[in-house]
Amino acid sequence: MIGDPIRKIVIVGGGTAGWMAAAALSKVMGQFPGLAIELVESEAIGTVGVGEATIPQINLFNAMLGVDESEFVRETHATYKLGIEFVDWTRLGHRYVHPFGSYGPDMMGIEFHHHWLKGRSLGDSSELDEYSIAVAAGKAGKMAWPARDNPRSPLSKLAYAFQFDAGRYARYLRGRAERQGVKRTEGRITSVERDGESGFVTAVVLESGARVEGELFIDCSGFRALLIGQELGVPFTDWSEWLPCDRAVAIPCTLAGDRETLTRSTARPAGWQWRIPLQHRIGNGHVYCSQYMSEDEATGLLLANLDGEPLAEPNQLRFTAGRRARAWEKNVVALGLAGGFLEPLESTAIHLVQAAIARLLALFPSRAFGTREIERFNDETLRDYVDIRDFLLLHYNATKRDDSPFWDYCRNLAPPKGLAEKLAMFRSSGRIFREHNELFTETSWLSVLVGQGVEAGGYHPAADLLPDAETRKRLAHIREVVAQTAQQMPTQDQFLAANGSAIPADERRIA
Ligand code: FAD
Repeated sequence: MIGDPIRKIVIVGGGTAGWMAAAALSKVMGQFPGLAIELVESEAIGTVGVGEATIPQINLFNAMLGVDESEFVRETHATYKLGIEFVDWTRLGHRYVHPFGSYGPDMMGIEFHHHWLKGRSLGDSSELDEYSIAVAAGKAGKMAWPARDNPRSPLSKLAYAFQFDAGRYARYLRGRAERQGVKRTEGRITSVERDGESGFVTAVVLESGARVEGELFIDCSGFRALLIGQELGVPFTDWSEWLPCDRAVAIPCTLAGDRETLTRSTARPAGWQWRIPLQHRIGNGHVYCSQYMSEDEATGLLLANLDGEPLAEPNQLRFTAGRRARAWEKNVVALGLAGGFLEPLESTAIHLVQAAIARLLALFPSRAFGTREIERFNDETLRDYVDIRDFLLLHYNATKRDDSPFWDYCRNLAPPKGLAEKLAMFRSSGRIFREHNELFTETSWLSVLVGQGVEAGGYHPAADLLPDAETRKRLAHIREVVAQTAQQMPTQDQFLAANGSAIPADERRIA
């Protein structure tokens, strides 16, 4: 940032995206002399209030903020998460887990799954799930610290994320941001001022008449997209052809028993239901497609499938899958729901906010706002969205479900190019390639391809360098070590208590 540095950042919106941006920018840029950060939010408008499941990349964000993990877990009433269990997605009665971390070890210079595929061709009927410590531990509600310094242990492969209370998370970040010097201004923005020549936003004007001036504006105003959409008119690219779900109904309920280490996603006739166990309650929601199901029916189905007593009225939400054509336009950068929305099937929204913040920091502008940096930001953001869209679509498209018009539509979709190529490659030879630096690794693609019942047409020839008997022996040994290790791990509740992360008993809402 040579010459002409930005002196004032204005963040519009105080939901998860706004406070993530405030906490991160004040942490990294806060020391910069003469730089002020102000966040404007309206309590009357409120936040979307959902968004409780994350992926392991959040640990990088926490590390950047310098978060103390036990404190973070306690404050946000979080639980540890080892993956997502998908129920009834492939066909009714079927379940599989998309775990964090990887499966068994690479052998003979090739990925583990080729040996598993070879084993299957030899008649071994073991499931891929049996080779993942995250699956074994997740199914048993267990948790332990990864053992990175012990490569022989399956725990060296463990990765984890969190499930937390969205409201508490925003408040936690707000506390950090304010301590780091961010100014919070309460009020509803009623108009926006722009420079007559450049079209750059110069100020937002509140109902009270107060003006908040800035040089860089971060639009975190949620689905309203106040600056990027309403003011600058950047069009929204609609992807509902691929991801037709456009509604959700959310409701928390009391929790019974131990807190699981898996988020659960259960496919329903016109969408799916999430179940996210936190320390003090369970977060539940039903994502559905309004073309195939009414609001009443969707709400009824959700209420009939809760594992505890409802703790609030159902919260109805509407959305369209897709993204802003450009997330950065002039001096406005859109984060969170203002920038786009992909349904929470793989818990990616908070990650997209975090990734965009990291990208903004890497490309942080001067007041000259170089077009090259803006283009790069937009290109990378587009790629993130396309990659995740394709990964989500895999769950819907590669299904054997034919029990409702919704599933018929999803099953018969012609996949977009990137997904079509991944499917073709796996079907032909069991190979998976991670494109560029896409979020989901080969392991993630593998778990969902296999979980959704896509058959690999072969395996890497190097798997045959191991004699058949040796392949069988090693597979059996890995399964045994994984199962034994999981058995010895503490439960989530024991783990939380042992690490000073459990919330006081009177804050738990047990059914
Ligand atoms: P919001 O929470 O809507 O915040 C918008 C802010 O803008 C508010 O503070 C509001 O007051 C302010 N604002 C708006 N207009 C004005 C105005 N005129 N004046 C002043 N202030 C204004 N993500 C995950 O990672 N995991 C999940 O499991 C997950 N589940 C989800 C489930 C559903 C059904 C939905 C819809 C989303 C889910 N998400 C999930 C996404 C996640 O909730 C959002 O990405 C995240 O909460 C970010 O929201 P936001 O901050 O962009 O918007």
